[in-house]
Amino acid sequence: MENIVTFSQLLKVTDRHKKRICEVFCELESHMLEKSREEIRNLALRNLNVMKSSIKDGLKNFGISPSGMSGEDSQKILKRYRNADNLPFNSLIGKILTYSIAISEENQRMGRIVACPTAGSCGILPSVITAYTEEYGFSEEGQIDALITAGVIGKIAAQQMPLAGAVAGCQAECGVASAMAAGAAVDLMRGNNEQVVHAAALALKNVMGLVCDPVAGLVEVPCIKRNGFLAVHAVTASEMALAGVQSFIPPDEVVQAVKQAGVLMSPMLKESSEAGLAVTDTAKQIVKDVLNM
Ligand code: SF4
Repeated sequence: MENIVTFSQLLKVTDRHKKRICEVFCELESHMLEKSREEIRNLALRNLNVMKSSIKDGLKNFGISPSGMSGEDSQKILKRYRNADNLPFNSLIGKILTYSIAISEENQRMGRIVACPTAGSCGILPSVITAYTEEYGFSEEGQIDALITAGVIGKIAAQQMPLAGAVAGCQAECGVASAMAAGAAVDLMRGNNEQVVHAAALALKNVMGLVCDPVAGLVEVPCIKRNGFLAVHAVTASEMALAGVQSFIPPDEVVQAVKQAGVLMSPMLKESSEAGLAVTDTAKQIVKDVLNM
Protein backbone atom coordinates (compact mmCIF):
# COMPACT_ATOMS: atom_id res chain seq x y z
CA MET A 1 0.00 0.00 0.00
CA GLU A 2 1.37 3.46 -0.93
CA ASN A 3 2.07 6.07 1.75
CA ILE A 4 -0.69 8.65 2.25
CA VAL A 5 0.44 12.26 2.47
CA THR A 6 -2.67 14.31 1.71
CA PHE A 7 -6.30 14.28 2.79
CA SER A 8 -7.52 13.93 -0.80
CA GLN A 9 -5.30 10.89 -1.26
CA LEU A 10 -6.68 9.47 2.01
CA LEU A 11 -10.28 9.88 0.85
CA LYS A 12 -9.48 8.30 -2.52
CA VAL A 13 -7.95 5.24 -0.87
CA THR A 14 -10.80 4.84 1.63
CA ASP A 15 -13.35 5.20 -1.21
CA ARG A 16 -11.53 2.68 -3.39
CA HIS A 17 -11.39 0.08 -0.61
CA LYS A 18 -14.77 1.05 0.88
CA LYS A 19 -13.19 1.24 4.31
CA ARG A 20 -13.12 3.65 7.22
CA ILE A 21 -10.10 5.91 7.71
CA CYS A 22 -8.98 4.01 10.82
CA GLU A 23 -9.04 0.69 8.93
CA VAL A 24 -6.98 1.99 6.03
CA PHE A 25 -4.47 3.68 8.31
CA CYS A 26 -4.11 0.59 10.47
CA GLU A 27 -3.28 -1.42 7.34
CA LEU A 28 -0.84 1.23 6.16
CA GLU A 29 0.97 1.40 9.50
CA SER A 30 1.02 -2.36 9.68
CA HIS A 31 2.70 -2.45 6.25
CA MET A 32 5.15 0.39 6.97
CA LEU A 33 6.18 -0.70 10.47
CA GLU A 34 6.15 -4.41 9.60
CA LYS A 35 3.82 -5.17 12.48
CA SER A 36 0.52 -7.00 12.53
CA ARG A 37 -2.71 -5.01 12.69
CA GLU A 38 -3.23 -6.36 16.17
CA GLU A 39 0.15 -4.99 17.24
CA ILE A 40 -0.74 -1.56 15.81
CA ARG A 41 -4.03 -1.55 17.70
CA ASN A 42 -2.25 -2.64 20.88
CA LEU A 43 0.15 0.29 20.52
CA ALA A 44 -2.86 2.60 20.22
CA LEU A 45 -4.43 0.99 23.28
CA ARG A 46 -1.26 1.55 25.26
CA ASN A 47 -1.37 5.25 24.39
CA LEU A 48 -5.07 5.41 25.21
CA ASN A 49 -4.37 3.98 28.66
CA VAL A 50 -1.58 6.51 29.30
CA MET A 51 -3.98 9.28 28.27
CA LYS A 52 -6.55 8.07 30.80
CA SER A 53 -3.94 7.81 33.55
CA SER A 54 -2.81 11.35 32.84
CA ILE A 55 -6.37 12.60 33.44
CA LYS A 56 -6.51 10.75 36.78
CA ASP A 57 -3.04 11.99 37.76
CA GLY A 58 -3.90 15.54 36.76
CA LEU A 59 -7.02 15.54 38.91
CA LYS A 60 -5.21 13.96 41.87
CA ASN A 61 -1.99 16.00 41.86
CA PHE A 62 -3.37 19.52 41.83
CA GLY A 63 -1.48 22.37 43.49
CA ILE A 64 -0.10 25.76 42.51
CA SER A 65 2.97 25.53 40.28
CA PRO A 66 6.34 26.99 41.36
CA SER A 67 5.75 30.01 39.11
CA GLY A 68 2.32 30.59 40.66
CA MET A 69 0.76 30.76 37.20
CA SER A 70 -1.17 27.48 37.12
CA GLY A 71 -2.08 24.26 38.86
CA GLU A 72 -5.63 24.35 40.21
CA ASP A 73 -7.87 25.32 37.34
CA SER A 74 -9.06 21.79 36.53
CA GLN A 75 -10.26 21.49 40.14
CA LYS A 76 -12.23 24.71 39.84
CA ILE A 77 -14.02 23.50 36.71
CA LEU A 78 -14.56 20.04 38.22
CA LYS A 79 -16.27 21.59 41.26
CA ARG A 80 -18.44 23.86 39.15
CA TYR A 81 -19.70 20.98 37.02
CA ARG A 82 -20.20 18.66 39.99
CA ASN A 83 -22.15 21.02 42.18
CA ALA A 84 -24.31 23.19 39.97
CA ASP A 85 -27.40 22.86 37.82
CA ASN A 86 -28.49 24.94 34.87
CA LEU A 87 -25.02 25.47 33.47
CA PRO A 88 -24.71 26.73 29.91
CA PHE A 89 -22.47 23.78 28.98
CA ASN A 90 -23.64 20.19 29.29
CA SER A 91 -21.75 17.48 31.13
CA LEU A 92 -19.80 16.48 27.98
CA ILE A 93 -18.29 19.93 27.60
CA GLY A 94 -17.74 20.26 31.35
CA LYS A 95 -15.72 17.04 31.29
CA ILE A 96 -13.75 18.06 28.19
CA LEU A 97 -12.77 21.34 29.85
CA THR A 98 -11.87 19.64 33.13
CA TYR A 99 -9.85 16.81 31.59
CA SER A 100 -7.99 18.90 29.02
CA ILE A 101 -6.78 21.30 31.68
CA ALA A 102 -6.04 18.50 34.18
CA ILE A 103 -3.72 16.79 31.67
CA SER A 104 -2.02 20.06 30.74
CA GLU A 105 -1.46 20.84 34.41
CA GLU A 106 0.01 17.36 34.81
CA ASN A 107 2.32 18.07 31.87
CA GLN A 108 3.49 21.23 33.64
CA ARG A 109 4.37 19.02 36.65
CA MET A 110 6.42 16.80 34.28
CA GLY A 111 3.90 13.98 34.77
CA ARG A 112 3.42 11.23 32.21
CA ILE A 113 1.39 12.33 29.20
CA VAL A 114 1.04 11.42 25.53
CA ALA A 115 2.33 14.15 23.21
CA CYS A 116 -0.52 14.40 20.70
CA PRO A 117 0.94 15.91 18.66
CA THR A 118 3.11 17.79 21.22
CA ALA A 119 3.41 17.98 24.99
CA GLY A 120 2.09 21.56 25.02
CA SER A 121 -1.11 20.40 23.32
CA CYS A 122 -1.40 17.07 25.17
CA GLY A 123 -4.77 17.74 26.83
CA ILE A 124 -6.93 18.24 23.76
CA LEU A 125 -7.32 14.83 22.11
CA PRO A 126 -7.44 12.66 25.28
CA SER A 127 -10.08 14.88 26.89
CA VAL A 128 -12.35 14.61 23.87
CA ILE A 129 -12.06 10.81 23.50
CA THR A 130 -12.47 10.22 27.25
CA ALA A 131 -15.38 12.59 27.80
CA TYR A 132 -17.30 11.27 24.76
CA THR A 133 -16.71 7.71 25.97
CA GLU A 134 -17.95 8.47 29.48
CA GLU A 135 -21.03 10.23 28.16
CA TYR A 136 -21.96 7.87 25.33
CA GLY A 137 -20.41 4.55 26.44
CA PHE A 138 -18.13 3.84 23.47
CA SER A 139 -16.28 0.52 23.49
CA GLU A 140 -12.53 0.19 23.82
CA GLU A 141 -12.38 -0.81 20.15
CA GLY A 142 -14.30 2.33 19.21
CA GLN A 143 -11.87 4.49 21.17
CA ILE A 144 -8.89 2.81 19.49
CA ASP A 145 -10.49 3.52 16.10
CA ALA A 146 -10.93 7.18 17.07
CA LEU A 147 -7.33 7.43 18.25
CA ILE A 148 -6.06 5.91 15.01
CA THR A 149 -8.23 8.33 13.03
CA ALA A 150 -6.74 11.22 14.99
CA GLY A 151 -3.30 9.77 14.26
CA VAL A 152 -3.93 9.91 10.50
CA ILE A 153 -4.83 13.60 10.74
CA GLY A 154 -1.70 14.34 12.77
CA LYS A 155 0.46 12.33 10.40
CA ILE A 156 -0.87 14.03 7.27
CA ALA A 157 -0.37 17.46 8.86
CA ALA A 158 3.15 16.50 10.00
CA GLN A 159 4.12 15.40 6.51
CA GLN A 160 3.27 18.84 5.15
CA MET A 161 4.12 21.31 7.92
CA PRO A 162 6.27 21.44 11.06
CA LEU A 163 4.36 20.66 14.25
CA ALA A 164 6.29 22.86 16.64
CA GLY A 165 5.40 26.20 18.17
CA ALA A 166 9.00 27.31 17.68
CA VAL A 167 8.69 26.83 13.92
CA ALA A 168 5.05 27.52 13.06
CA GLY A 169 3.34 28.97 16.15
CA CYS A 170 0.66 27.47 18.35
CA GLN A 171 -1.56 26.84 15.31
CA ALA A 172 0.82 23.94 14.63
CA GLU A 173 0.54 22.53 18.16
CA CYS A 174 -2.88 23.23 19.69
CA GLY A 175 -4.36 23.86 16.23
CA VAL A 176 -3.35 20.47 14.89
CA ALA A 177 -4.31 18.80 18.20
CA SER A 178 -7.77 20.33 17.84
CA ALA A 179 -8.01 19.08 14.25
CA MET A 180 -7.06 15.58 15.44
CA ALA A 181 -9.66 15.72 18.22
CA ALA A 182 -12.35 16.99 15.84
CA GLY A 183 -11.72 14.03 13.52
CA ALA A 184 -11.75 11.62 16.46
CA ALA A 185 -15.09 13.01 17.66
CA VAL A 186 -16.62 12.54 14.20
CA ASP A 187 -15.29 8.98 14.09
CA LEU A 188 -16.77 8.21 17.54
CA MET A 189 -20.14 9.60 16.45
CA ARG A 190 -19.95 7.39 13.34
CA GLY A 191 -19.65 10.20 10.84
CA ASN A 192 -18.26 9.32 7.43
CA ASN A 193 -14.70 9.69 6.16
CA GLU A 194 -15.37 12.98 4.42
CA GLN A 195 -16.86 14.42 7.61
CA VAL A 196 -13.75 13.38 9.57
CA VAL A 197 -11.49 15.24 7.15
CA HIS A 198 -13.69 18.34 7.02
CA ALA A 199 -13.97 18.47 10.81
CA ALA A 200 -10.17 18.53 10.95
CA ALA A 201 -9.97 21.29 8.34
CA LEU A 202 -12.65 23.39 10.07
CA ALA A 203 -10.84 23.13 13.40
CA LEU A 204 -7.44 23.94 11.91
CA LYS A 205 -8.38 26.85 9.70
CA ASN A 206 -10.20 28.62 12.49
CA VAL A 207 -7.04 28.90 14.57
CA MET A 208 -4.81 29.86 11.67
CA GLY A 209 -2.28 32.45 12.79
CA LEU A 210 -2.37 31.47 16.47
CA VAL A 211 0.95 32.57 17.94
CA CYS A 212 3.20 30.91 20.49
CA ASP A 213 4.10 33.39 23.25
CA PRO A 214 4.63 31.47 26.49
CA VAL A 215 5.17 33.59 29.58
CA ALA A 216 8.71 33.13 30.96
CA GLY A 217 9.23 30.42 28.35
CA LEU A 218 7.21 27.98 30.49
CA VAL A 219 4.47 25.79 29.05
CA GLU A 220 1.85 27.28 31.37
CA VAL A 221 0.44 30.60 30.16
CA PRO A 222 -1.31 30.61 27.74
CA CYS A 223 -0.78 26.91 27.05
CA ILE A 224 -2.79 25.19 29.79
CA LYS A 225 -6.05 27.09 29.40
CA ARG A 226 -5.62 27.06 25.63
CA ASN A 227 -5.93 23.26 25.75
CA GLY A 228 -9.39 23.74 27.26
CA PHE A 229 -10.45 26.25 24.63
CA LEU A 230 -9.22 24.20 21.70
CA ALA A 231 -10.69 20.95 23.00
CA VAL A 232 -14.13 22.59 22.97
CA HIS A 233 -13.28 24.12 19.58
CA ALA A 234 -12.83 20.54 18.32
CA VAL A 235 -16.38 19.69 19.37
CA THR A 236 -17.69 22.72 17.45
CA ALA A 237 -15.85 21.61 14.32
CA SER A 238 -17.03 18.02 14.64
CA GLU A 239 -20.65 19.04 15.13
CA MET A 240 -20.54 21.29 12.08
CA ALA A 241 -19.03 18.48 10.00
CA LEU A 242 -21.56 15.92 11.28
CA ALA A 243 -24.32 18.32 10.24
CA GLY A 244 -22.87 18.31 6.72
CA VAL A 245 -21.00 21.62 6.90
CA GLN A 246 -17.79 21.49 4.88
CA SER A 247 -14.70 23.65 4.76
CA PHE A 248 -15.12 25.76 1.60
CA ILE A 249 -11.33 25.69 1.22
CA PRO A 250 -10.37 22.04 0.65
CA PRO A 251 -8.60 20.42 3.65
CA ASP A 252 -5.22 20.07 1.91
CA GLU A 253 -5.29 23.73 0.93
CA VAL A 254 -6.09 24.63 4.54
CA VAL A 255 -2.94 22.79 5.66
CA GLN A 256 -0.89 24.70 3.08
CA ALA A 257 -2.39 28.01 4.22
CA VAL A 258 -1.57 27.25 7.86
CA LYS A 259 1.94 26.26 6.83
CA GLN A 260 2.35 29.57 5.01
CA ALA A 261 1.03 31.50 8.03
CA GLY A 262 3.70 29.74 10.10
CA VAL A 263 6.43 30.81 7.69
CA LEU A 264 5.19 34.43 7.67
CA MET A 265 4.79 34.60 11.45
CA SER A 266 7.41 36.73 13.20
CA PRO A 267 10.09 34.69 15.00
CA MET A 268 9.23 36.89 18.02
CA LEU A 269 5.90 35.05 18.18
CA LYS A 270 7.29 31.55 17.77
CA GLU A 271 8.16 30.35 21.29
CA SER A 272 10.95 32.87 21.79
CA SER A 273 8.88 34.77 24.40
CA GLU A 274 9.92 38.08 22.79
CA ALA A 275 6.41 39.38 22.04
CA GLY A 276 2.71 38.94 22.78
CA LEU A 277 1.63 37.80 26.24
CA ALA A 278 5.24 37.02 27.10
CA VAL A 279 6.23 40.69 27.22
CA THR A 280 3.27 42.11 29.12
CA ASP A 281 4.05 43.87 32.41
CA THR A 282 2.75 40.89 34.36
CA ALA A 283 4.86 38.46 32.36
CA LYS A 284 7.97 40.60 32.91
CA GLN A 285 7.29 40.57 36.66
CA ILE A 286 7.01 36.76 36.60
CA VAL A 287 10.33 36.52 34.81
CA LYS A 288 11.89 38.79 37.48
CA ASP A 289 10.29 37.06 40.48
CA VAL A 290 10.42 33.44 39.45
CA LEU A 291 13.42 33.19 37.21
CA ASN A 292 15.45 35.91 39.02
CA MET A 293 16.23 37.55 35.69
S1 SF4 B 1 1.72 28.66 23.23
FE1 SF4 B 1 3.57 27.69 22.39
S2 SF4 B 1 4.42 26.46 24.07
FE2 SF4 B 1 2.27 26.93 24.56
S3 SF4 B 1 1.10 25.17 23.77
FE3 SF4 B 1 1.10 26.74 22.18
S4 SF4 B 1 2.83 26.19 20.88
FE4 SF4 B 1 3.13 25.08 22.81
